[in-house]
Amino acid sequence: MGQGLSCRIRDDHGLFTAVQFGDLEIVETVLNRDPSLVKQTTVYDRHSALHIAAANGQIEMVSMLLENPSVNPDCLNRHKQTPLMLAAMHGKITCVEKLIQAGANILMFDSLNGRTCLHYAAYYGNSDCLQMIVSSARTSHVAVSWGFSRFVNIRDGKGATPLHLAARQRRPECVHILLDSGALVCASTGGYGLPGSTPLHLAARGGSMDCIRELLAWGADRLNRDASGRIPYAIALKHKNGACAALLNPSSAEPLVWPSPLKFISELNQDAKALLEQALMEVNREREKTILKGTGYSMPSPSHSDATATDDNISEASDSQLCCICFDQLCAIEVQDCGHQMCAQCTLALCCHNKPNPTTASLTAPICPFCRSNIARLTVVKVKVNTADQELDLYSSPKQRKSRKSQNLSEGSSSFRGLSFGKVVGRSSGRVSLDNECIDKP
Ligand SMILES: [Zn+2]
Ligand SMILES: [Zn+2]
Repeated sequence: MGQGLSCRIRDDHGLFTAVQFGDLEIVETVLNRDPSLVKQTTVYDRHSALHIAAANGQIEMVSMLLENPSVNPDCLNRHKQTPLMLAAMHGKITCVEKLIQAGANILMFDSLNGRTCLHYAAYYGNSDCLQMIVSSARTSHVAVSWGFSRFVNIRDGKGATPLHLAARQRRPECVHILLDSGALVCASTGGYGLPGSTPLHLAARGGSMDCIRELLAWGADRLNRDASGRIPYAIALKHKNGACAALLNPSSAEPLVWPSPLKFISELNQDAKALLEQALMEVNREREKTILKGTGYSMPSPSHSDATATDDNISEASDSQLCCICFDQLCAIEVQDCGHQMCAQCTLALCCHNKPNPTTASLTAPICPFCRSNIARLTVVKVKVNTADQELDLYSSPKQRKSRKSQNLSEGSSSFRGLSFGKVVGRSSGRVSLDNECIDKP
């Protein structure tokens, strides 16, 4: 990994040095004099000029070289690495973008570890490059010929998916993007049912709490065993990652799990999704605090308290009501089609299964706790305020209003103030449509 890209080479023309430092003038002069030099490579690693330009983030140089018809965007060095892999490795996002635009193939494997550019971006934690590669995979020929989710879960020579590498290398942002893009949280390096390590095993070893948090929130199973029969908890202990071990201890409270298999969750609009994700992480953080304190406390599910809420005449409520389930947060999410409102945390608790079971993706669709009708869509509550000041005021008040009954959902609530869910969202644009056949009408 990470071959030196310095040009200790027989470089009579200073070509590679000029490429490395982005000296367009010299490069143009040299190539005008001898066009065949564009095919020249460094002596040992066999980097082309395009490799060197991409790895050093010399975007203008990359663009100039790609205009040359004899430059192949997928040229290979000694280790069969493409310029795109090197750009992804070094986090050169503009070069990644340019290379992809120029038709660079995202589905190439190096000869070192059988890794793709997606592996490189994940391993080195370059989340912007990772996001760009994932986005291009959605639209490129790869999606057609290979399938998008197959690409996201692509294995290297040792069976590691990009998610494995991101988890091992402590790259929580990459872990999140990959999971959000359909990476299998329980993928095993063994493959095809053979025992191997899951991303959670590698995160336990890497010792990143953020990675473990993300993986657990997406339903990673703490009881999976690797080829040596160890659960992630044992690996965290072995590597002396104590706090990680506490979260991974199968006897500590189960985290809430992002209910991605629910169709209306996967089709949420960005505002609603951001709210719910934030709520999920906050609830889990509260849970973590208790776990780390060493108590066996488990948070009551707000969905069980709906009986107390049914009497409230919420249909007449104005748009900024206190949530009638927890009496702590303001309503931020509206259930469609019935129009009942809840806070994000209660919505989430309603949709989440405390016992993650990623193998059975058949979650039953949750129903509205107020009227028991099926939830077809979730939208962000539209708040009718005119000025930003009023809006701010509105959302800074829940603590003061916290009067009636308080549950333990509460403490992480303050950061909701910073979210812009108060912005007026057009009701039609905020909707997420759900095909009728996906709802079991009672
Ligand atoms: Zn609530
Ligand atoms: Zn309802």
